Amino acid sequence: MRLVYPTHKQERILEAWLVLCCETYNAALDERKSAYRMAGISLSYEDQCAELPGCKEVRPDLAKVPYQVLQDVVKRVDLAFDAFFQRVEEGKMPGFPRFKSRFRYHSLTFKQFGNSFKIHRQGKKNRGTLELARLGPVKMVMHRAIKGTPKTAIVKRTPTGKWFVSITVELRANDLQASRLPHTSEPVGIDVGLKTFAYLSTGEAIANPRFFREDETKLARAGRKLARAPKGTKERAHKRKVVARTHERIANRRKNFIEQEVSKLIARFGFLAVEALVVRNMVKNPNLAKSIADASWSMFFTRLQAKAEEAGRQVVRVNPAYTSQTCSACGHRQPMPLSVRVYECPQCGLVIHRDHNGSLNILEDGLHAVGRHSRVIPEAPGL
Ligand SMILES: [Zn+2]
Repeated sequence: MRLVYPTHKQERILEAWLVLCCETYNAALDERKSAYRMAGISLSYEDQCAELPGCKEVRPDLAKVPYQVLQDVVKRVDLAFDAFFQRVEEGKMPGFPRFKSRFRYHSLTFKQFGNSFKIHRQGKKNRGTLELARLGPVKMVMHRAIKGTPKTAIVKRTPTGKWFVSITVELRANDLQASRLPHTSEPVGIDVGLKTFAYLSTGEAIANPRFFREDETKLARAGRKLARAPKGTKERAHKRKVVARTHERIANRRKNFIEQEVSKLIARFGFLAVEALVVRNMVKNPNLAKSIADASWSMFFTRLQAKAEEAGRQVVRVNPAYTSQTCSACGHRQPMPLSVRVYECPQCGLVIHRDHNGSLNILEDGLHAVGRHSRVIPEAPGL
């Protein structure tokens, strides 16, 4: 994600395109729904793309939006329907894909590098230009040169009115080789927690940065102020923006923190075992601290997986059942309420930090899953 700075004029054009794309999305969705409900026909991406020129005749302003951006809108509807039918096939009872409100339509996709978008890096540090079809050059922050061949550029507006672009690239074998780290088969088990961010089977802990807690307080305060502001007022609109800004800052700080920790782990270990937490269900937890932690974990696992793939490391997700109840030395099981921070095994006498014990079990399960050996018994269990 790179920040881009459209001029006021460009910003108005981008805003107008977002509104038009949102309308097109809803119209394409509506057409598919009607065709399916009334005639039992599934329209395809190609069917709907073929209608785009006709739409432009009826709505001349659509012609101002780059053609490939519009095609991508139809593609998004197509993907939404694919996902819908997928869920039907799995025997679930999905809702139909939904119409999008103009407030929830934030992004434009420019396909085909060199055609609908170009990237220029300027001599000066951090300066670049993103050249978009029908819009012209937009200033872009560019700390590093782009590795690989750009494929698509997705221009996004955040709720606070900032603009970003994410550029997806295709990496050739050479590019991949370049980003590979020296080979290591060193294994680690990682247990995420609420008090410490994560505990490693090596006995190290990754502490939660202090700003996690501070940010939670700020967010709760901003949320209360928003709830108190009378509906439909300027004050409320302002408070909403404060909440959005707070969310955005939290997300950025967390992202940086996670990015750093993931890089360190990937550099050190060749085999990483983590819990397969069902984070999506846990996010519904009404407890704010908990739900924020869930969001961080989910980001952590996603980034770990992605970076591991880039670097040729192996990530294994293990079933989290019993990882805290089982003694990592002898396999004895006992209930471990969250308040109990130390695992004391009545069978073999092991005394070990609860999360360290968990991380050792995760490592063991991970190694077992890939047919590797060994239970690592800590000689001097640290607390
Ligand atoms: Zn034991």
